[in-house]
Amino acid sequence: MSDWHHYSGNMHIHTSYSDGEKLHAEIAAEAIAAGLDYIIVTDHNVYVTGVEGYYENEHGRVLLMTGEEVHNVRRQPQASHFLAYGAGKELARHAPDPQALIDETLGAGGYGFLAHPHERDLPLIDSPDLGWHDWDIEGFSGLEIWNYMSSFKNAVAARLEKLRWKNKLVSALVGLWMTLHPERYVTGPEPETLALWDDFLSRGMRVAAIGNSDAHGTPMRLGPLRRIVYPYEFLFRAVNTHVLLPEPLNGDMAHDRALLLRAFGRGHSWVGYDMAGSTAGFRFTVQGVGRGIIGDEMPYGLGATLQVKAPARCRIRLIRHGKVMAEVERESNLAYIPDEPGAYRVECLIPYEGRERGWIYSNPIYLR
Ligand SMILES: [Zn+2]
Ligand SMILES: [Zn+2]
Repeated sequence: MSDWHHYSGNMHIHTSYSDGEKLHAEIAAEAIAAGLDYIIVTDHNVYVTGVEGYYENEHGRVLLMTGEEVHNVRRQPQASHFLAYGAGKELARHAPDPQALIDETLGAGGYGFLAHPHERDLPLIDSPDLGWHDWDIEGFSGLEIWNYMSSFKNAVAARLEKLRWKNKLVSALVGLWMTLHPERYVTGPEPETLALWDDFLSRGMRVAAIGNSDAHGTPMRLGPLRRIVYPYEFLFRAVNTHVLLPEPLNGDMAHDRALLLRAFGRGHSWVGYDMAGSTAGFRFTVQGVGRGIIGDEMPYGLGATLQVKAPARCRIRLIRHGKVMAEVERESNLAYIPDEPGAYRVECLIPYEGRERGWIYSNPIYLR
């Protein structure tokens, strides 16, 4: 629908206030270079103040906002990372109690997402499974269904498990080789995460999805070899969260931040793997009893039509509660008349780097 305004950005990023390599202004410049409209910096267990705002240079501008990635540092392993946005305050002291963390975040008017929910152990770099493990919770806003760095870690772990090479040097060389071309190994969100999301949706929950870089700009050292895994700008061209807003951003930070945060919380958004092709033109709408977009909740009515418009010909799947209800290949449109209520979401897959990759993962349209 032409009266919605599209913006893209990344909402999981680390600076040198935690374990990232660069500071806000430098990261903002890399986001501008990658063409992003907004970024949210989420340092580990520190809410950094005084840095939010528009950052500009001769190539453009980007809105930088501050969130926080909170986890319990006394937990072993230090898993269950929580992404808090819009709470406007330090939340780290609530880390030992995930439910309190969720309640504090949402109680302060913010939104909270479970970061990289499914991970593998990667002994090669002494990185344990940092997925979400504390499931006795409720009320969170959504899931980070695709985290590029976590996807890559999982791809390396899966490859090494398959090869069964116990030799540390051989494993290190395989890992290093893979870091030269991560795009060959990252294929899409973890299937377990999508299945979990579908399970929540089938139980009638509203669960919004986001997708991010988890950029650190970290140098990786393997003996004498050193490589940045991966530069911020590279990652800002990979997995992003795209939003549709009912009015344009106007340059007023408080106004623009509120619009964006609400869109993330309501799921007026999709996760796009922009490295395989820009996902900016994607739209998913419903027309019938009323008109709605991605993330909207509409009364179910006979004759309502769900419409998908992809930015290029691709495989399009319309999914309800984990079941593919309609699928087309090498098409850029799909129309479907649902014959039951439920949460309907869209996946688009596209060939890239020699195989079909996950490209677009939309939030659902909820027909109640
Ligand atoms: Zn994390
Ligand atoms: Zn992180």
